[in-house]
Amino acid sequence: MEATKSFTEDGITILDGGLATELPKIGFNIDNDPLWSARILMNSPSSIKEVHKRYLEAGSDVLITSSYQTSVPSLIKFGNCSREEALGYIKLSVTVAKDACEEFWRGNTCKEDLSGFKKALRRFPLVAGSVGPYGACQHDCSEYSGKYVDSMSLEELIEWHRPRMVALVEAGVDLLAIETIPALKEALALCDLLKSFPSTKAWISFSCKDEQTLCHGEKFTEAVSSLSSFDQVFGVGINCTKPEYIEPLLRGLQKERIAEDKVKVVYPNSGESWDKGSWLESDSPKKLCHYASSWIDSGGKWIGGCCRTSPDDIRSLRESLKS
Ligand SMILES: [Zn+2]
Repeated sequence: MEATKSFTEDGITILDGGLATELPKIGFNIDNDPLWSARILMNSPSSIKEVHKRYLEAGSDVLITSSYQTSVPSLIKFGNCSREEALGYIKLSVTVAKDACEEFWRGNTCKEDLSGFKKALRRFPLVAGSVGPYGACQHDCSEYSGKYVDSMSLEELIEWHRPRMVALVEAGVDLLAIETIPALKEALALCDLLKSFPSTKAWISFSCKDEQTLCHGEKFTEAVSSLSSFDQVFGVGINCTKPEYIEPLLRGLQKERIAEDKVKVVYPNSGESWDKGSWLESDSPKKLCHYASSWIDSGGKWIGGCCRTSPDDIRSLRESLKS
């Protein structure tokens, strides 16, 4: 985990942006597919690698794998494969991301200038294994409410999450991106599960419905505070949330001096919202880079984009923060 450490100690780290947002640009329509980007991982892993490379070329220091919407049951059901094959696809999401890093790094070693940035300023990218919420695999939009946690025990959540986490760790991720978590109970289940992999570090980022509340209704500051005793959780934050909510959410942590020893990770969506199978425009369609300095002022360190953000957004973000 030394790799993660060197990034956390050294200024701002740039994450990637939406993976599924980029796939239609190379000919795939997955918005209503129950496996979402995992469908392309199964059918065309080289296309996933291509999108990863676009983000690296745009300036990402960290790639998040295409395993967000993968689970053994959903891959078996919707992908028509065996349990062993399902675990193989989850591992493949790590392999394609690692291959993208290696090809990007090899391909650019002779260039003095890399996407406008000196090579010396770049570090070999990290691969973060995406661990999405239980709701993301139910294909019923419950990831945005987290209501399923009310009828599931901590143990049920842990056992549901276990096989994917085992596969991601076995495949050699640098860290885990436990992301778009709508409810504290699920975050606590994942923190417990993480103890089964003592040398693996993770960030946990919540999805929030306003300036202070998780999608399921818990107060963001209280949820983050509940994670502070888990040493493997090196980062806490917010993703897949409207960009205008990020600064107030971070300020809430600052004001109450919560999780001061943990890196603050933020990667909001574009502000558009998903409704009945399509994207609705944002009320204030400002780009990520417009907000970025306010996120840094309020403690943000690892910064990127989630749904509906693109390599162009990441390029502008990097230019605004690292030039
Ligand atoms: Zn998202």
